[in-house]
Amino acid sequence: MDKESLRGAVLLSHFFLKERVRRGDRVADATCGNGHDTLFLASLVGEGGKVWAFDFQEKALANTRMRLAEAGCLGQVELVASGHERFAEFVGEPLKAAVFNLGYLPGGDKSVVTRPDETIAALQQAVGLLIPGGLITVCIYTGHPGGGEEGEAVEKWAAALPHAEYNVWLSRQINLPPSAPYVLLIEKARK
Ligand code: SAH
Repeated sequence: MDKESLRGAVLLSHFFLKERVRRGDRVADATCGNGHDTLFLASLVGEGGKVWAFDFQEKALANTRMRLAEAGCLGQVELVASGHERFAEFVGEPLKAAVFNLGYLPGGDKSVVTRPDETIAALQQAVGLLIPGGLITVCIYTGHPGGGEEGEAVEKWAAALPHAEYNVWLSRQINLPPSAPYVLLIEKARK
């Protein structure tokens, strides 16, 4: 697939991240899964940057580690074997960006999914660490049990963020069914 296209939520999130993230930046991937977003972030920040990448499934961390090693990007990534609800315990520095790609591990156990309480706990910590101009992208999936409820909970939480401090956007591809994955975008405002 053409990685420059806007075909789907993940590539739209990359479009925004690429605009904002620079070499040397500190960023996080809250749900590394198979490591595609982690690798994308690692290539944006380069060797002088840093990516914290969370997952609580060993299979996901192993897949991500292998992908990063193949690309020679392991050096700038700290793989965190923990639930992202402990985000701020591990990420000790202000962040330029954080990526949340919700749902289940593609190719893995589809019953192990992100959960609204944990997702919102992690998002709350991540927004608190964003520097002005920093971005959070959330890819939301509604096609699995609980996905719709998670999307609603995340939207409700994000809609309540104070607009003096955060700019919050929702992007849906409206020529697809309403169940298609979509993107929530949070920017920490510049003063
Ligand atoms: N659905 C996406 C991929 C999402 S992967 C796609 O199709 O591209 C989501 C990852 O989040 C999974 O690997 C899962 O193990 C991880 N995850 C779920 N809950 C988590 C939590 N509380 N902390 C960290 N990772 C979590």
